[in-house]
Amino acid sequence: MRKNIVAGNWKMNTTVQEGISLAQEVNGLLKNMKANCDVVICVPFTHLVPVNGVIDQNIVGLGAENCADKVKGAFTGEVSAQMVASTGANYVILGHSERRQYYGETNETLIEKTRLALENNLTPIFCVGEVLEERENGTYNDVVKSQVEALFSLSAEDFAKVVIAYEPVWAIGTGKTATSDQAQDMHAHIRNVIAEKYGVELAQEISILYGGSCKPSNAKELFAKPDVDGGLIGGAALEAASFIGIVEAFN
Ligand code: PEP
Repeated sequence: MRKNIVAGNWKMNTTVQEGISLAQEVNGLLKNMKANCDVVICVPFTHLVPVNGVIDQNIVGLGAENCADKVKGAFTGEVSAQMVASTGANYVILGHSERRQYYGETNETLIEKTRLALENNLTPIFCVGEVLEERENGTYNDVVKSQVEALFSLSAEDFAKVVIAYEPVWAIGTGKTATSDQAQDMHAHIRNVIAEKYGVELAQEISILYGGSCKPSNAKELFAKPDVDGGLIGGAALEAASFIGIVEAFN
């Protein structure tokens, strides 16, 4: 059975001290409830070690928001997958639309990042999603298919370890959520694309998260869809109560 997951993406927000408080609050709230899904917080690199010190990873998992496409060496400012893993993190977001859009990440660099993440036992949360123009001109299914296909040189064993996050770019941070039907249609499409390459059985095991202005008020309807296995949460993950409100959509 595939896992339901709610993962927070803090982006470039919070000081280390604020991040520690937020992580403590999330951990504390989760400790007092029985979450019916895995919960993960993905935090800035600077926060990984101190946040790991204040959470119980049996309660809330820890992830980074990116990693390098190189193993090690003269790449000033980069942080490798091995470095991320050495902090105690178990997840890494890869290919977020902000990385694709502002930092020129391509299918070529993303497959390298994914391979390195997997080699270092990190679970990649691999983001795909179309921009508004592609939604409006009807090419969104092809766009997302080619983003998923970027990982198709992975072995079946490796692909099975990847979590996919469908994040329509027009819904990220805009307050404009995809309807639950739009999300379901795309998640089913992604699962079909995976099934064509790796078989139906493996495709059924892949967790596919929805991201884009997900909040406590719309999470239940989105997560009720059969192919929506949770969410990747930006803005609403910066406030413990709203993040937990989304986790509660599975209860
Ligand atoms: C994100 O950036 O991953 C995201 C889903 O952001 P938001 O929830 O703020 O739309």
